Amino acid sequence: TIRTRFAPSPTGYLHIGGARTALFSWLYARKHGGSFILRVEDTDRERSTRESVNAILEGMAWLGLDYDEGPFFQTERFPRYREVIQRLLDSGHAYHCYCTPEELETMREEQRARGEKPRYDGRCRHRTEPRDGVDPVVRFRNPLEGEVLVDDAVHGRTLFANRELDDLIIARSDGSPTYNLTVVVDDLDMGITHVVRGDDHLNNTPRQVNILRALGAEPPRYAHVPMILGSDGKRLSKRHGAVSVMQYREEGYLPEALLNYLVRLGWSHGDQEVFSLDEMTQLFDIDAVHKAASAFNPDKLVWLNHHWIMHSETAHVANHLTHHLGERGIDPAAGGPDLMAVVEAQRERCKSLVEMADKSTFFYREFDEFDEKAARKNLTGETRPALADLRERLAGLSSWEAEAIHGEILAVAEAHDLKLGKVAQPVRVAVSGGTVSPPIDATLELLGQDATLARLDRAIA
Ligand code: GLU
Repeated sequence: TIRTRFAPSPTGYLHIGGARTALFSWLYARKHGGSFILRVEDTDRERSTRESVNAILEGMAWLGLDYDEGPFFQTERFPRYREVIQRLLDSGHAYHCYCTPEELETMREEQRARGEKPRYDGRCRHRTEPRDGVDPVVRFRNPLEGEVLVDDAVHGRTLFANRELDDLIIARSDGSPTYNLTVVVDDLDMGITHVVRGDDHLNNTPRQVNILRALGAEPPRYAHVPMILGSDGKRLSKRHGAVSVMQYREEGYLPEALLNYLVRLGWSHGDQEVFSLDEMTQLFDIDAVHKAASAFNPDKLVWLNHHWIMHSETAHVANHLTHHLGERGIDPAAGGPDLMAVVEAQRERCKSLVEMADKSTFFYREFDEFDEKAARKNLTGETRPALADLRERLAGLSSWEAEAIHGEILAVAEAHDLKLGKVAQPVRVAVSGGTVSPPIDATLELLGQDATLARLDRAIA
């Protein structure tokens, strides 16, 4: 069965590129009924933090990328790595290297002087005696000849000549394992069948394949996904806007919008743009991922967000909106209109949940002040008598629903010889403080009779 993994290094938040790698890996496992494993590559103790682990877990949870096993932590597996390093030493696939940094630098200078590419020349390969006073590193004895074929799902068949690969360090002088070793041991122990990761790791792959073979194992299938570029063609970074998944949450995106956006970065299915999670799970294929880097297009993400705000289940949108209302000190469960009804009234005009929250706070809390311009234009000597009249009529309504409210607004417009909009807009300003809200009758119905009357009073006063 298929087993994939996501193996982030916890040195920051979960960024867009990592999230897409995780998504591809997750989709592939889900599509084939396999397992998805989360492995935290925290061996770089100086740069790894607990906060970062939490941020990554939080990002995965928000996106809904659940894992079947893990999180595993590499720092908890040092005894196992030590064991494998020893095994490689015992079998002659690895050796101690006592070269000092100065020696290595001299070696590289000489190589450069000869016009060669600097690389470790294997001078400790045949050393039999330790050297006093030097804690050795352990190097992998890479084959000198032949080639490594990597049949990458994205990049196709790629050949690497062994003579281009030098004997890489698998254990530092303090005994700690290096990245290429820990990845190999973990992918092997965890039974990973498909390694999906960024193509910045493509050059590590032949080294990892050689180590795997030295351990008597067959390599997994690899899929190196291209990186994400900003709109200017440079690697996506903070300069281009948000790069952290959780920042997208704070900016009011739905997880399905971000997932939909991410799945289309480097993968396509005809000219279809909109994919639900179920759909992408069915249709996604790792072999169909393009190898060219993909450019981030914020407008398209906004468009998808609006689409998913419109088409996700109301309760789901309401759930995510609750977070943003909470940021504004509002708990919609504590009173005020039913949040589901608010979502239904607002979704069409909102491109983000931040916008929806901003436009919905007046339902739950008295606004601080009128928008100055809106008030000057709408709360005038001409409209105040109409608002006062409407206030009395609405106070007398026994059934508080949109149709009846609409009837009263119409009646007031007629009685005061005003166009409908000349009543509706002042009412809108009176109850919301500004000029944007859902249709006025629906707005008043949602707001409720008591709050509507109180706010009309405030506007007339
Ligand atoms: N920990 C590595 C990274 O964050 C990923 C290595 C891998 O997926 O093999 O780039």
